[in-house]
Amino acid sequence: MTAGKNEAGVGASLNWRDEFHDSALETLFRRTMQIQDSEQLRRALWIVAGIFLLLIVADYLLLGAGAEFLALAAIRFGVALCCLALARFIGHHPAHAHWPLPLNLVYLAASTGLLLTILLYPGSIGLHVSSIVMASLAIYLLVPNRLTWILTWSGYLAFGFVLVAALWKPLSPGMLASSILMLGFANLMGWLTYSRLNRLQRRQFALLVDEREANRKLQQEIEERQLLEAQLRHMASTDPLTGIANRRHFFEQAEREFHRAQREGTPLTICMVDIDLFKTLNDHHGHAVGDLVLTTVASCCASVLRETDLIGRYGGEEFVIALPQADLETATFIAERLRHKVTSLRLPMLDESQRLSVTVGISQVEPDEAKLESALQRADDALYAGKSQGRNCVIVADEADPSLAARA
Ligand code: GH3
Ligand code: MG
Ligand code: MG
Repeated sequence: MTAGKNEAGVGASLNWRDEFHDSALETLFRRTMQIQDSEQLRRALWIVAGIFLLLIVADYLLLGAGAEFLALAAIRFGVALCCLALARFIGHHPAHAHWPLPLNLVYLAASTGLLLTILLYPGSIGLHVSSIVMASLAIYLLVPNRLTWILTWSGYLAFGFVLVAALWKPLSPGMLASSILMLGFANLMGWLTYSRLNRLQRRQFALLVDEREANRKLQQEIEERQLLEAQLRHMASTDPLTGIANRRHFFEQAEREFHRAQREGTPLTICMVDIDLFKTLNDHHGHAVGDLVLTTVASCCASVLRETDLIGRYGGEEFVIALPQADLETATFIAERLRHKVTSLRLPMLDESQRLSVTVGISQVEPDEAKLESALQRADDALYAGKSQGRNCVIVADEADPSLAARA
């Protein structure tokens, strides 16, 4: 009666009662089956109550309204009432379908009632044997219960029958032997069928649990992969030091903005931002401080931009900014704001005299331009013009006359 572990996944092996060895799995199974079992139990109780009530009619037809009939009717009515009461209780409390006590009380009432009828009912012993056989089969197949209780009550019925028959209705040895055989056969059939059904149910359940576990693991793996993918995407597009877009990612986005600007005839300006005298700062304070300054300036630049503006690390201590929908005048205004913000930065490791500053070169994409690089080159030229004009300034490209450029 034991299913191998490999039949339905780990922990799915069954004991002699056809229950899972793994008690947690068994509890889960019983909890899952609770509603179904309570429904089945109620149905069984209604059927048993109905049969007992109908038997009262049969008793009346056979015995008439005598004292024996009344006693039989009282027993049958009592059993039917017990069944109906339990059915009603389970209806209100389906979670108690697996409670052993109420069901065992009903078993006791019904089995004892059935055994008592043997004494009161004058019918042939064959009729009693078949009613005990039917009752045993019902215990195995109709009422959802644990095997130990099923065996207990089937045993009670079988031994009770033999005892009652031996004491009050003496049977011939042949009749007794065939009755015992009938009862034994009914119990064997009931047990085998019960076992087959339970093993099937539990094996199916174990497979379902395994499948759910596999799905959960798969889902977890998918989520981990998605997270990893997002991390990889982030790493591939972000400058690890400053946290802003790296050069490649900036140009991917800027190219899109460039094509959109050309298509829609809207302005697009490019700003090249370079930290002034950064090498000196590095030399005086070390690379670690230099890195901190770079990060601070990058977030300072990003903070003056709109959501739709783009910023990236161009390389070293240079940043590049793309301002969609912004003409030179707007770009100059933004660049000036950025320059002022950098100038007003105070870092604890730098003296008052060591103010940070940036030089910005600005250019606007021309309507007939085929490539973004031309505008970048002009912004770069403007930046170097700014460097040669003393740094810490904003220079607009193509403005040959330095007085036209915004100066610090
Ligand atoms: P200018 O005002 O003309 O731009 O002078 P500068 O010193 O800023 O320019 P230069 O090109 O001479 O030096 C840039 C320095 O930036 C040199 C390099 O060591 C430093 N640098 C580049 N990348 C990093 C980095 O990731 N971290 C640090 N700490 N320094 C960097
Ligand atoms: Mg520099
Ligand atoms: Mg530089």
